[in-house]
Amino acid sequence: SHSRKLRVLVLSSDTGGGHKASAAALRAALQHLHPGQVHIDVVDFWVELASGPFRRFPAQYTFLAKRPALWKFTYEFARFPPFRAVTECYFNTLAHKNVRSAFIKYQPDLVISVHPLVNTLSLHVLNRIANETYIPRPPFVTVVTDLGGAHPTWFHRGADMVYVPTPDVARLAHRVGVPDSQVKTVGLPVRQQFWTGERSKSQLREKLGMLPDAPAVLLIGGGDGVGALRSIATTLAHQLPRKLGTPHLQLIVICGKNEQLRDSLASETWQCHMIPLGYVNNMSEWMAASDIMCTKAGPGTIAEALIRGLPMIITAFLPGQEEANVRYVEQQRVGVFAKKPRKIAAVAAQWLSQPHQLFEMSQRAIQCGRPDASIQIANDIVRVAKDKIMENITEMERRRQVTAASVAL
Ligand code: UDP
Repeated sequence: SHSRKLRVLVLSSDTGGGHKASAAALRAALQHLHPGQVHIDVVDFWVELASGPFRRFPAQYTFLAKRPALWKFTYEFARFPPFRAVTECYFNTLAHKNVRSAFIKYQPDLVISVHPLVNTLSLHVLNRIANETYIPRPPFVTVVTDLGGAHPTWFHRGADMVYVPTPDVARLAHRVGVPDSQVKTVGLPVRQQFWTGERSKSQLREKLGMLPDAPAVLLIGGGDGVGALRSIATTLAHQLPRKLGTPHLQLIVICGKNEQLRDSLASETWQCHMIPLGYVNNMSEWMAASDIMCTKAGPGTIAEALIRGLPMIITAFLPGQEEANVRYVEQQRVGVFAKKPRKIAAVAAQWLSQPHQLFEMSQRAIQCGRPDASIQIANDIVRVAKDKIMENITEMERRRQVTAASVAL
């Protein structure tokens, strides 16, 4: 056919913070809106593009995520402008060549960044290529995947549009100098199962093999083993039946990749109904079927729980990166932070014994939820891309005419 597919390059990285989940959500939304018309490559910027010493970046992230003090130091270090300049200069020099060949290889018509540490370098390289080839750079947009706050490296004045999840993050973008016309508050992109309403609690509970009318607490473990899932699960299983005066209660424990924990929970006997699971692909159903969620402060999980109207107890967070997510949850009054298993049990018991309060929290969560964020962002990205591409075509035509005129002299 005469019109080829729009080539989209999504720059992500496997460093937690919902980057990969957001990238998948955007891919689904773009394909949903323009079936068969877009070609999307999602690449791990540090592993596949920058390569060399940066190949180990996601592994180092995992290492740091388990060491909060070191993590905080690194995070703050990268925030302080002089250090930031030095670090970026170092990144730019070392990774420049590889990123450049990657852009030339992928030939993107549109670049979407879903990671805070790829914006400066990508725009720098794209602008350099444009200057050298006399072909204007492709449209470049950023989708911020932090909920309450965001590292300054997310924001670049040169981006054609920056999509942010909340008004607080929009204010941060404003503060670091991104013009308001280049910022849109739309919510966090979530996967397709969260775009539409879910079946009723009773239907879902039947489908999922849960007790039909016992209160349900959903525990979600952090992918990399951040958070003390076992001790929270056992404490809740022991203390909740006592505090509520009944064993008529169910605990769903999503252990993720930790199959050992799932197996060991499954082999024990408990004072309440225990449902231990590995990694689940139907998170939307489990959330909609539950009454309370306990989780670490991952932005994706929080955004999804809001859509499903699920009040939450945040049990852990990465200092720096996820701190603002906790503040957001507490400010919106859709949940609280509690770290000690005994405290978590106390909060859960209090909520379950006051159904009215729990219902109001759930209603507030639904108010904050943005099920249409993925589609809205994808829609707007295509609009921004079209405008920029038309602008580029006009500019190239102008240059062609200038060249033609000077040759004719
Ligand atoms: N998740 C899932 N199944 C599981 C465990 C987690 O689908 O068994 C999803 C969860 O719903 C969320 C994502 O994994 O969409 C985790 O993203 P988040 O931003 O919460 O945390 P991070 O990316 O920082 O680990």
